[in-house]
Amino acid sequence: MPGRICRTEEEAFQAGWSETCDHDLDPAECPACGLTGTEIARLAVLLGHLAPTAPAGQAAA
Ligand SMILES: [Zn+2]
Repeated sequence: MPGRICRTEEEAFQAGWSETCDHDLDPAECPACGLTGTEIARLAVLLGHLAPTAPAGQAAA
């Protein structure tokens, strides 16, 4: 007995997006499901390496 019926992909996405995770938390706020600070930092490094305008450390004179 389905609790909801998704007619479109958008509805399905929204339903999944607003659904709580397995830990009964907002997936965006769940430390287990969301990205940890360490993971974000590592991604930032990886993406920063690819970014054309990555701010480089200024060399001291
Ligand atoms: Zn979770």
